Amino acid sequence: MRSRMFDSSLSLATPLLAESGINDSYRFATFSWVEVLVDCPGAQGLFTYALPPDLTVQAGDILTVPFGAQQVGAIAIHLLAQLPPDLPPTQVREVEEVVSTGFFPATYWTLLNQVADYYCTSLMAVIRVALPPGLLGRSQRRVRLIELKALDGIDPSGLSSVAQQVLSRLQAQKQGNYTWQYLQQKIPGADRGLRELLKQGWIESYLEPPATVRPKLRQAVTLVAASHLEGSLSPRQQEIIQALQREGGDLWLSDLLQLCRTSSGTVQTLAKKGCIVIQPREILRAEAGVTIAPDQPKELTPDQAQALATITSLSGFAQVLLHGVTGSGKTEVYLQAIAPVLQRGQSALVLVPEIGLTPQLTDRFRARFGSKVCVYHSALSEGERYDTWRQMLSGSPQVVIGTRSAVFAPLPQLGLIILDEEHDSSFKQDQPAPCYHARTVAQWRAELVNCPLILGSATPSIETWVSAKSNQDVNPPAPHYLSLPSRVRSRPLPPIEVVDMRQEFQQGNRTIFSRALQVALERLQERGQQGILFIHRRGHSTFVSCRSCGYVVDCPNCDVSLSYHHTHAEATQLLRCHYCNHTAIHPPQCPECSSPYLKFFGSGTQRVTQELAKHLPDLRCLRFDSDTTRTKGSHRALLTQFAQGDADLLVGTQMLTKGIDLPQVTLVGVIAADGLLHLPDFRASERAFQTLTQVAGRAGRGDEPGQVIIQTYSPEHFVVEAVQRHEYEPFVSAELLQRQTLRFPPHNRLALLKFSSPDPLAVQKTAKRIAAVLAPQQAESGYELLGPAPASILRVARRYRWQVLLKLPLNRAVELPDWNELRSLCPPNVSMTVDVDPLNLL
Ligand code: ADP
Ligand code: ZN
Ligand code: ZN
Repeated sequence: MRSRMFDSSLSLATPLLAESGINDSYRFATFSWVEVLVDCPGAQGLFTYALPPDLTVQAGDILTVPFGAQQVGAIAIHLLAQLPPDLPPTQVREVEEVVSTGFFPATYWTLLNQVADYYCTSLMAVIRVALPPGLLGRSQRRVRLIELKALDGIDPSGLSSVAQQVLSRLQAQKQGNYTWQYLQQKIPGADRGLRELLKQGWIESYLEPPATVRPKLRQAVTLVAASHLEGSLSPRQQEIIQALQREGGDLWLSDLLQLCRTSSGTVQTLAKKGCIVIQPREILRAEAGVTIAPDQPKELTPDQAQALATITSLSGFAQVLLHGVTGSGKTEVYLQAIAPVLQRGQSALVLVPEIGLTPQLTDRFRARFGSKVCVYHSALSEGERYDTWRQMLSGSPQVVIGTRSAVFAPLPQLGLIILDEEHDSSFKQDQPAPCYHARTVAQWRAELVNCPLILGSATPSIETWVSAKSNQDVNPPAPHYLSLPSRVRSRPLPPIEVVDMRQEFQQGNRTIFSRALQVALERLQERGQQGILFIHRRGHSTFVSCRSCGYVVDCPNCDVSLSYHHTHAEATQLLRCHYCNHTAIHPPQCPECSSPYLKFFGSGTQRVTQELAKHLPDLRCLRFDSDTTRTKGSHRALLTQFAQGDADLLVGTQMLTKGIDLPQVTLVGVIAADGLLHLPDFRASERAFQTLTQVAGRAGRGDEPGQVIIQTYSPEHFVVEAVQRHEYEPFVSAELLQRQTLRFPPHNRLALLKFSSPDPLAVQKTAKRIAAVLAPQQAESGYELLGPAPASILRVARRYRWQVLLKLPLNRAVELPDWNELRSLCPPNVSMTVDVDPLNLL
């Protein structure tokens, strides 16, 4: 076998396989070869195989193919009538078998190509996000008799003798079920017999995920400072460090061993050298073991009922913006919209923000739909992935809940897509390519499979709002606008008090808690109620510096300081970079002057909990942030603890804003809104409005009325005023005016060209050169060029970054630059990526 690396230009030129049913000339052509995506860690690109004459393969079929010395799962991507000229037929091996056919809907491959096209990237890059590796690998291929009883009276005499042998062996066994491998060992030539029986429809072939017993605790490996040791590491050890780096600095030990094909001895040596830390960590698979009491559909409020009626009346592709204030019962509308979809035998896809995928949310879906619910996201463990994949393979009606990448969940029979909190920026992938937005992809997908798409939010993104309010005669049709203007059971939205922290200071209050907040916190316990304290944390708010010499611990790879991380008393104290994830053990002394007085500054959650302990020692607090929820299952554990009343106050960051629906929470406090208000980004106001409204919306969701206190040094800021009055529309109007003046979306579109290189001069020169090529074309092509400019943090992960921004008009055809031509202008050590519709301008 020889592999051929995937070439994007080639694939886009070949006809789309998804259209093979439509295109007759294509259907009747004879294909003797197939390009497949093999499911094997480390296998890059597409591989070409020959089709045996008696095997019919279609794009999207799941196959088994020989790969090296193993047999692995594979997905047929392209059928080829001719072999590429550089590939001699003698080097091409044959496809073994078709495991499952018709699983991927025909439109699936059209979607992937559309994503590659729009986001200026290769199909392979899209496939990598869409179908994470390890989906099929190491599963057992099994066969089983289809209808044991129905076959009893059937005469097998028309079958070949080998097929008869296979059949009688299967019939002799109670379940009529064996692994493919076992039958191959027992019966010479079993393959042929099996294929014959498959064709006759007497047996079926399927993949059985490995059933492993998992311990509750597993060893996890975390990368810590290694750069100073690099010289002393063997090439093998360096490979392991690099693999860890690529995986984000954190892996299960067993996964690392497998990934690097190394022994645990080698890894232990690295731990002894201080490059990595190995610690046991809890695992939780598919949140199994948690039993959820089933619930019944709730009687809808008139607003909910009206929204549901509109949604269920839709047939085929349509978009809906469900604009419901916090606590208006959007989730209940989703649940009742999904029920008839399942009854029709179709499935539903529910996309939620990264931090919205809380156990509470999945529980609500499980309570309604039980085992039909599965969770799908990129951080799934191998076991979870198998379970999910297997459930999807079954094709039975189901509900898949997942984050961004789940928009690609290869779910057949899709009847409804829901994007909850559609305004959330985690739906956009910043890097690596494809820099797709799940909302955009969901729109295409809904259109392709001809089903409705619901976009839900209390604070819709300005883009979605504008399109829902626009003229309906556009293509694709603008979203229907449905509103849930009040909370269920006529509960009021909580009153919001804005406290001017400048006055607090003038009046002698030197703490980070205003007097109003202190009083409210004291009352919590008296009344047996609970509260949430929100802290907006920026990456470098907890830097470590030396009290003697002023030395600040910086990231060796980026132009930022390291943040202090400490989860609990016994845990190793770590310093971590929020940009490249570089992790180091907190040094016992100042590396500069050896003073032992290294102190961390800033007001992270940890500092706030310490301050609380000082001022309100009786208040029981729980920290809820990326430190305390790093381990799997800790989300659930912390929320359960809080819901059970083990604490009075939950102190945390952005994670608190979504998906938390606890009726006993009456108080929400925001420590300093200012961090949100003054970010150098044209979307800063929109994000601040969304975050503050969402976090305020956690209060008063039960029978007791809620109260919100926002502390700020800019009480007159228009965002703060709009949040305080719960005024979405006036805020959007003001914001739209500003955007128009500055010519930013939604009045136009953006494309960001990102350059990066380890060489600071090369990247600057390249960015300037490409800007110089683009600048003269502006008037003719219809775009406007900004830059080149260095990124606001110039160096990240040892790479220097520059960018060029293109502003594209909305309603006029624009001639986009030829990206490949631009790429060819980049020297080998400078990389260029295109971010279409970027959310973050670096
Ligand atoms: P949202 O997602 O809009 O913030 P939720 O769906 O979380 O709101 O609903 C808020 C609370 O109201 C939840 O506890 C939910 O169970 C409850 N709820 C929703 N709809 C109804 C209804 N029709 N009757 C009674 N309670 C409801
Ligand atoms: Zn010092
Ligand atoms: Zn860094």
